[in-house]
Amino acid sequence: MSEVKVLNTGAKYAHASAGSLQNIEGKLFVKDAVGATSCEISFGTLPSGAAVPFFHSHKDNEENYIILSGSGKFQVDDDVFDIAEGSVIRVATNCDRNIKCTSTHPMTYICIQAKEGSLGNFTMTDAEITERENLL
Ligand code: ZN
Repeated sequence: MSEVKVLNTGAKYAHASAGSLQNIEGKLFVKDAVGATSCEISFGTLPSGAAVPFFHSHKDNEENYIILSGSGKFQVDDDVFDIAEGSVIRVATNCDRNIKCTSTHPMTYICIQAKEGSLGNFTMTDAEITERENLL
């Protein structure tokens, strides 16, 4: 049974790890381990031929699925399309979704769930270059 372990924390950060993604069974949620306040993050795996055993829909949050390995199919309401390593699927609120692995090896993916429409400034409209000494 895999779990997310907190490895380092400071006043302004938390570092947790799920370890090898090949060892994850089902879904592993990360928000609580790192104290995330803007999104839920989960790692997911599906063995060959498996789909999530139910459809679900979200009222407030969109989901962004990032496929890390494997390939398969994704369904949103009655639309079905192929997905593979490198795919990113954004799913809006108030629709049904499911994911299936059709590759011979397991599918691993990340799902990031955040409030739909909540992203304001991002990347260089939010970030500032600072003058910190590089200790790396
Ligand atoms: Zn969901």
